[in-house]
Amino acid sequence: MFDNIDKTNISELGEFGLIDHLTQAVELTESSTVKGIGDDAAVLDFANKKTLISTDLLLEGIHFDLRYVPLKHLGYKAVQVNLSDIYAMNGMASQITFSIGLSSKFPLEAVEEIYEGALIACKKFNVDLIGGDTSASAQGLVISVTSIGYAEESEIAYRSGAKEGDLICVSGDLGGAYVGLQLLEREKQIYLENPNIQPDLEGKDYIIERQLKPEARKDVVQLLDALHVKPHAMIDVSDGLASEILHICKASNVGCKLYEDKIPIDPMTYETAREFGLDPTVCALSGGEDYELLFTVPQSDYDKIKGQLDISVIGYVTEAAAGCGMISKSGHVHEIKAQGWNAFNK
Ligand code: ADP
Ligand code: MG
Repeated sequence: MFDNIDKTNISELGEFGLIDHLTQAVELTESSTVKGIGDDAAVLDFANKKTLISTDLLLEGIHFDLRYVPLKHLGYKAVQVNLSDIYAMNGMASQITFSIGLSSKFPLEAVEEIYEGALIACKKFNVDLIGGDTSASAQGLVISVTSIGYAEESEIAYRSGAKEGDLICVSGDLGGAYVGLQLLEREKQIYLENPNIQPDLEGKDYIIERQLKPEARKDVVQLLDALHVKPHAMIDVSDGLASEILHICKASNVGCKLYEDKIPIDPMTYETAREFGLDPTVCALSGGEDYELLFTVPQSDYDKIKGQLDISVIGYVTEAAAGCGMISKSGHVHEIKAQGWNAFNK
């Protein structure tokens, strides 16, 4: 990780010095930002649009492990996963606040890396960093990100909007982040047993990136808009496909049928899952952290989405009484159960 030799102790700057230092590179580009960092509150103006707000708390040892997560990636991912919630409402993200609690083991250089990653994500997704809070923490690193965005009222996609007969679609591919995590965990164990062995992650870039550097699917929201497709219901895949489709079905009071052979799984995810003795479908259903978008569209939109390589139709919405099932490759129907990652079970 990092040794603290030749590193700057945060107490040398003090709280205000630290805030100034971290935020000096911040540029505001969004027209809805009236006032950013530097007053008691930021000021925003969304005119006649609805405002979307979402917040996440990330705790060292619960949500991330600094033994294999580089700090820059952590800052980047913290922003990404939070923006993903705004996109999952079919909205555009425009601002974030970034709050951080630091124990004494973190030198200034460590915090700079976290902010570097966070600001790269802000720039890439065109969101303004408009504030935050900074504090010492008794133990470990705490990060909290709040995302703010906007949407036309008629464009917002709630979890509760799915209708019987809708097609169930998902962007990208699933299970990669979970399989990437298995790889990182294995290499960490090997390292802990023998620090002289270098991690063997050759050829596994895609799934390692899926875990360490997920990309929120702003592009999918823009694509659907360009195709004139308004999803009836939408959610981002943070806890695994099974958990997310059950959220939509419960909120919409409907059932579903998914087809196992339609679930998009990247070949590297598939092979590596097999190497670990894992069922790739289970990785997609229960793994989580893929941050793809799962959504339903009316059947009449099928022609608009069928040629899109990055969108897979994986099933359809049924009446609630039919339950939630997955038709396996062998043709059997399995009830879908949520086994998503749960911080309380760690
Ligand atoms: P207050 O005492 O009113 O909470 P602070 O001194 O905590 O104010 O913050 C001063 C300004 O710096 C505010 O605009 C706040 O949003 C911003 N700020 C504080 N911490 C951070 C941070 N970690 N990242 C970005 N902005 C921050
Ligand atoms: Mg404060």
